Amino acid sequence: MSAQSCSRCRSCQSANQTTFSGEIALHFPGLEGLDKPIVWVFPKLLVCLNCGFTEFAIPEAELRRLVESDAAAA
Ligand SMILES: [Zn+2]
Repeated sequence: MSAQSCSRCRSCQSANQTTFSGEIALHFPGLEGLDKPIVWVFPKLLVCLNCGFTEFAIPEAELRRLVESDAAAA
């Protein structure tokens, strides 16, 4: 686990970052992605309030769904 709390923005090096609770719908790319269910994830977003650059990690349970759904297409 890498702590992000005291890091600086990777884009502009600003320390003016705040963590938000995110709600993101992931769509699989391409035409075949249209047949796949959207995967909702609720990550913590580390937003740079200076330039808008945002970092987040997909929680493990949702990440597994992405991996499984991707493998199902092959
Ligand atoms: Zn920034």
